Amino acid sequence: MQRYAFFAETAVETLAITTFNAIMFIIKQSKDLARYLQKQRSVKKTIGFIPTMGALHQGHLSLTKKAGEENGVVVCSIFVNPTQFNDLTDFELYPKTLESDILLLEKQGCDLLFLPDVAEIYPSGISPATAYELGYLESVLEGKYRPGHFQGVCQVMHRLMEIVRPDRLYLGQKDYQQCLVIGKLLELIQSPAEIIICPTLREPGGLAMSSRNLRLSAREKQNAQGIYEALSYISRNIKPGEVKGIAERAGALLIQKELTADYLTIARAEDLRIIDVWDGQTKAIALIAAFMGKVRLIDNMII
Ligand code: AMP
Repeated sequence: MQRYAFFAETAVETLAITTFNAIMFIIKQSKDLARYLQKQRSVKKTIGFIPTMGALHQGHLSLTKKAGEENGVVVCSIFVNPTQFNDLTDFELYPKTLESDILLLEKQGCDLLFLPDVAEIYPSGISPATAYELGYLESVLEGKYRPGHFQGVCQVMHRLMEIVRPDRLYLGQKDYQQCLVIGKLLELIQSPAEIIICPTLREPGGLAMSSRNLRLSAREKQNAQGIYEALSYISRNIKPGEVKGIAERAGALLIQKELTADYLTIARAEDLRIIDVWDGQTKAIALIAAFMGKVRLIDNMII
């Protein structure tokens, strides 16, 4: 185990580990990654890519598993991207569990872990070179409450897509708005990669698995289930007509569990246009962002 921590702090650029009878490469430099992937492409292997910020849990691993079923090569990245944090404390407190991440990925059959540092991702510095035209998507929900967040997401994803050039990109529905933003980014940068949105994995009580859950006490974790309960309440009880009443009742469930909502919104699943009056036909999604103590959690449910 110790060797991983050692590796992370040294100048060694590429490592192959074989604890579970399968080789997983750990690569820090994009030029080494490009060389490895070129070889894979030359033997017609497709590349499935899972970008993450680490502190991996079963949700991340479900994406890795699916990528393994559908591709010749599975590449995961771990990079806590400074440009997508609008809150410095959130960035500094973001959980880091690299040793266990490596073991989990290796066990799940990941072929290559890309572990770049900031200079590798942002060789010209972290100031954005491009402003991505995200339009409406950037003005609502996460875009509204986390100014600059999606520009940072696009910055890192643009760079990662250039480096990895995957055939398929695996994303979690938990970050639904991010999935739409990345879809828009792929259009803007004319990437042919296919996006596969995977279902949200949950704890037994319904709380969406999240790296940030590591920052919750046992009691907070219990109360944070209120987010799932509020979403389920909406999904079970929504009827055609005005949605204000049901949103208010779901909001009350959050308050009962000491959750402080940034938003609780019902929107069109296609484009996140807010729904005030639901016609009973349009595919809708309920989305919540709420604080449990100092930890901000998001979740959603398709209706
Ligand atoms: P993150 O490390 O939080 O940036 O997440 C990396 C990827 O894992 C994103 O595409 C997330 O949407 C996805 N993900 C995070 N949590 C879950 C979950 N509970 N179930 C499924 N996918 C998830």
